Amino acid sequence: MVSRPRGSAFAVVLAVGWAAACGGESGSGSRGGDAAARGAADGGDAAGEKDSRAEEAAEEDGGGGMPRAEDAATGDDDGTADAAEVYVEHVVAEGETLWDIARSYGVDVRAILAANGLRDRQVRRLSRGRVLRIPGVTKTVPVLGAAARAAQMRANLPPLADGAYHFLAPGETLWDVARRYGKTVDELAARNGFTDDDLRALSVGRPVIVPGIPEDQVRPADPSVRSGLVHVLGRGETIWDLARAFQVGVGAIMAANALTADEARTLREGTELFIPGVTQDRRGRVRPETTGPERSATALARRLGLGTVQCARELLNGRARRSWVRAAGETDELPGTLRWPVAKGWYVRGWGSGEGGYHLATDIMGEMGWNVRAAAPGIVAYSGREVRGYGNLVIVIHPGGWVTAYAHNSVNFVVAGQRVPAGGILAELGSTGISRGPHVHFEFIFRGELCDAEPLFRPGVRHRSGRIERLRSVTWTDPDARPAAIRCAPRRHHPRSRWVENETPEAETPEAAPSAPTADGAQVPP
Ligand SMILES: [Zn+2]
Repeated sequence: MVSRPRGSAFAVVLAVGWAAACGGESGSGSRGGDAAARGAADGGDAAGEKDSRAEEAAEEDGGGGMPRAEDAATGDDDGTADAAEVYVEHVVAEGETLWDIARSYGVDVRAILAANGLRDRQVRRLSRGRVLRIPGVTKTVPVLGAAARAAQMRANLPPLADGAYHFLAPGETLWDVARRYGKTVDELAARNGFTDDDLRALSVGRPVIVPGIPEDQVRPADPSVRSGLVHVLGRGETIWDLARAFQVGVGAIMAANALTADEARTLREGTELFIPGVTQDRRGRVRPETTGPERSATALARRLGLGTVQCARELLNGRARRSWVRAAGETDELPGTLRWPVAKGWYVRGWGSGEGGYHLATDIMGEMGWNVRAAAPGIVAYSGREVRGYGNLVIVIHPGGWVTAYAHNSVNFVVAGQRVPAGGILAELGSTGISRGPHVHFEFIFRGELCDAEPLFRPGVRHRSGRIERLRSVTWTDPDARPAAIRCAPRRHHPRSRWVENETPEAETPEAAPSAPTADGAQVPP
């Protein structure tokens, strides 16, 4: 993503927001381009506040329209001593949020909190007339709300050759846009260069490039017709609880309500949140809306006997019916390798870990809202939460008879019968709470045994530092010739033979069903 010629890179620069906005050399492009890049950055800066890209974005802002103190203009906006000595006093106007203020000044929210001795919990109570110290700046600036930022952004967009811009309406998420134009979230994410962090942070007014459509096919969403429902946050209720209850991604809820990661973490009782893409039936039960392709996948699943808890149990015990494996692909050959299932996720523990080596799976941690992706192409055999201990579980059958399982998701995005490519989005990584650390419990199952997937992962096993460990370059394509490096063993029960469950605190305390496989639950090391 570094130094491309400005002209042809406009779309790319826009698409990746701040990541690429800083890649261009100063002075090599038109102001319009820079402004557009900044506009895009503003629209999507929610996710990355703790991320280096956000700092870069702030730096970018510092060079443009956002006045900053001379000595802070080097991008050092994280509240260092030098920057903190310079400040202005900003009087909070009606309706201004701390995030609007922070964006408008190009100062980190944390720095403002620190400079004013504010805690997270207090920021929702910013009242009109309150005087806030804005560190590291010398002039007060008008604070732009989301609508004004969007208008500014639209005026600065370069033309596109291969598609058109769709602007996110209030309540509209990338999942909605994908449905509207018959694209997949993956396609849109790829064309726009969105990372998993970006997906959950796209805010109102954000331009999304929809590839392959002319301008006149853009159908703006009518903000007065929002598909979903409004939920008032109860005492102690969190955005993660809502995701579980409504089966809507945390990312989608954040996007629909233009919440930053900080805002999502500090929601107060009584806050109204829009839950996109769900409807309520006459009895008041909430159900996710289904699409045409989902309905035909469900019909296929029904014909094949996929999608039931019985099917899930058979597969977790290593019994993949012939008709199911056929449905996964015409070939008898195995896919050969597995893709690391969480783009930036990191290895926690692997096959044979845990008390008595019972844990015959790989645990991969990541951030709440990141996507869980198919490790190889195949067909979704199960997507639900009926197998105790696994929380939200997706099981995929691959050509040749491999089976992979992805447990503890906050939300599943697929239905049984759906075909998925390698890397296709299956679910959102989950956990009961931020402090516990969300993770995927990944099982790799073949012919009655749980196998060690690690030698098959490509590009390798990713560690927290970002280092990718390539174990052995093993491929496995012949179902009858398993490479020696890949250990397999029958499922082992947890030595204390109890379900370990902390993903779903609302679930009943389960007793181990004798025939059921044991999930490890989320015993995430500190
Ligand atoms: Zn595990």
